[in-house]
Amino acid sequence: MSVVGTEKELSVYESMAARFDVAARKLNLDGGLYRYLRTPNREIIVHIPVTTDNGQLNVFDGFRVQHSIARGPCKGGLRYGPHVTLDEIRGLAAEMTWKCAVVNIPFGGAKGGIICDPQKLSQGELERITRRYTAEILDYIGPERDVPAPDMNTNEQTMAWIMDTYSMHVRHTVTACVTGKPVALGGSLGRREATGRGCMIVCDQALKRFGRERETTRVIVQGFGNVGSQAARLMHQAGYKIIGIADINGGIFNTQGLNIPELLEFVQESKTVMGFPGAEAIGCDEILEQDCEILLPAATESVINSKNASRIKARILAEGANSPTTPPADDILFDRGVFVIPDILANAGGVTVSYFEWVQDRHGYFWTENDVNQKLQEIQVAAFNSVVQYGEKHNVNNRIAAYMLAIDRVAYTLKLRGIYA
Ligand code: NAD
Repeated sequence: MSVVGTEKELSVYESMAARFDVAARKLNLDGGLYRYLRTPNREIIVHIPVTTDNGQLNVFDGFRVQHSIARGPCKGGLRYGPHVTLDEIRGLAAEMTWKCAVVNIPFGGAKGGIICDPQKLSQGELERITRRYTAEILDYIGPERDVPAPDMNTNEQTMAWIMDTYSMHVRHTVTACVTGKPVALGGSLGRREATGRGCMIVCDQALKRFGRERETTRVIVQGFGNVGSQAARLMHQAGYKIIGIADINGGIFNTQGLNIPELLEFVQESKTVMGFPGAEAIGCDEILEQDCEILLPAATESVINSKNASRIKARILAEGANSPTTPPADDILFDRGVFVIPDILANAGGVTVSYFEWVQDRHGYFWTENDVNQKLQEIQVAAFNSVVQYGEKHNVNNRIAAYMLAIDRVAYTLKLRGIYA
């Protein structure tokens, strides 16, 4: 498997900073404020001692970066992976600040990561790593401080372990210390689907703008984890034609459309989309360049870069993943007239329903799934319209518009708090 541009033309932090710089210049941001918002508030590095199943003591490196608490407690996912870096977590933490501001929810941004290979670890090992990591960062997290959530290679079970460890330390059950928990432990209905549903909502808005119908709209999704599989399932159900799906092992393609419910069943058994009957195999880079109306990267960062951007044929790029496009690719896509729905808008459904989960936990009163979905719809549609209108007003593309809108909102809060005059 090769990913186009894994050599990364810019790191995740550099990509965030490049966009921040453009937006800050357009906003004429005060010099001190520029320096303050470009760097995180706090970076925590922990070295976690864990005995693996073979009886050996291992040390895993973990990070939690808190970018901003200007608008409320920090909020952001926790990811596991062999290639996780502090730079990546730093960039993603800042993106969380901008994302929460774009959808106008009262959180700042954070991100966490542990360098480990979940594919090679048992459930018991993962549990011990998660609990020890939680204990190490315990003073810095909590409902009023920083609220982790699932991200790549972490899930509801991971959040349950964090919630239990946190609760044991403070000696009472604190459901609001993480989101994306199992529903039986204070999770929210609709959270599992939220990021994918949010992606569909912004795609619907883009179609409305271009006067297109779902039924004649061909979609390609890269990534079939939480975000990609839920986006594909909901969009298929709503009438979109999903013609290509890829996971880390490779892609499958059928111009007549894929049967997503059958694919989901198939993946339950085989753990990959590869080998799904009735579809041809295709590389996970190649799939990005196929003819379609919507391309929805929902896997990992920097997959659309200066090397392949000129070959992207999609009319709409809806970024389900965080940072899937590099800044040099932004310019190429813009010149080619691709309508980009940037990550900090397109995938904000997850953090929005995480916010609902936090609210429900703190109230001890739980909403119906319909309530959750309806409120998510209202927030995503409003955010989409705000970003697109902001871009038109200031003559910038959607990504820079989203950054400008977000920075403007955070800066205004800091002004009200008296951080600058
Ligand atoms: P996940 O671990 O559940 O799934 C990741 C999927 O991507 C898997 O199917 C994996 O096989 C595939 N993949 C990984 N590398 C690939 C590659 N090079 N080519 C093709 N497929 C590849 O992760 P997730 O939670 O679905 O997150 C996916 C992306 O969405 C990440 O960028 C994450 O930060 C972002 N995101 C997630 C959420 C959420 O609620 N889970 C919210 C916002 C953004």
